[in-house]
Amino acid sequence: MVGPTVLPDSVIHSMDRQVISHRGEAFSELSKKLNANLKKVVQTKNEVMTLTSSGTGSMEAAIQNCFSVGDHVVAAVCGVFSERMAQIAETYGLQVTRVISPDGEASDVEKVMEAVDENTKGVFVVQNESSTGVMNDIKKFGAALKDTKALLVVDAVSGLGGIDLQMDAWNVDVVFASAQKALMGAPGLAVIALSDKAWEAVERSTIPKFYFDLKRARKMWQIGQHPWTPGVYQIFALLEATNLILAEGLPEVFARHQRLSNMVIDGMSELGVPLFPKDRKYASITVNTFAFDRSVEFVKRLSDEHDIVIGGGQDHLHNTTFRVGTMGYITENDVNAYLAAAKKVLDEMR
Ligand SMILES: *Cc1c(COP(=O)(O)O)cnc(C)c1O
Repeated sequence: MVGPTVLPDSVIHSMDRQVISHRGEAFSELSKKLNANLKKVVQTKNEVMTLTSSGTGSMEAAIQNCFSVGDHVVAAVCGVFSERMAQIAETYGLQVTRVISPDGEASDVEKVMEAVDENTKGVFVVQNESSTGVMNDIKKFGAALKDTKALLVVDAVSGLGGIDLQMDAWNVDVVFASAQKALMGAPGLAVIALSDKAWEAVERSTIPKFYFDLKRARKMWQIGQHPWTPGVYQIFALLEATNLILAEGLPEVFARHQRLSNMVIDGMSELGVPLFPKDRKYASITVNTFAFDRSVEFVKRLSDEHDIVIGGGQDHLHNTTFRVGTMGYITENDVNAYLAAAKKVLDEMR
């Protein structure tokens, strides 16, 4: 699945319990443990806070808190989700310059940097564009922006917990993600981390904010709490999911995603279905997108006849692509079951 992803049994069981007060000591302990795990997953010394919202809420929080009306920002757009960030920024009165890549290509760091000047306050990049199945080179963006005034804002929603992201080593200023993708958590929770440079921008921000006021959230986070009632069950689930990720080991988790996506891509290639990304070197390892006419029928038949849920194409790629998730709690058996079912449906459709 391409999100929400399947939950491991122990993650399901972590939610099978009586509710606890979000103002009590037990809850503070829980958030502190989760914070420690998330710092390891995001590879940062910064606090990694949780927000009770989907990933889009954390996208909005990043823009509301780190920028001001009229700020000039550059959006590296390579599909539906990177375009969404640009739209939210415009909604809040930012001046957005889009650098748009052709469908199926990653964002080109040099081209994006041509649009960056000394007035640029931020550059928005998606780590893994879930609509077209391409990954961007966040390390290279971080190196290019290191000595500029611009904040590097990274949407890691469908990558975090599946694809390497080293917030501190790569000079990333804002990272946000949601629980229900590669992190294997329950839907309804987002995570967000800001660098010192981003917190300075928060001090200058003039955009009105209330629910997603991150300064307020940070104050409460220091005592392991939230300003409002948080998604307590999603927090139990994410603690267990991140325990599993860290027990397996980050390098092992990333290698598993690489291995499974190779299996999917090679398997589809044998069935004559090409990868949608133009170049395999930037093909996603969490969401594989394939070019296929009549993809709507293919997706529906896999679900109806084989009980296998994959993702349809998005936006204008609705009936010409489909997407196969390898993120989160997926095994080689799942991939083999998918490939066998895909072969059957394709044989019948051709
Ligand atoms: C799923 C996704 C989002 C949106 O997340 P929600 O939790 O559905 O709001 C944003 N960005 C990317 C890259 C995604 O894959």
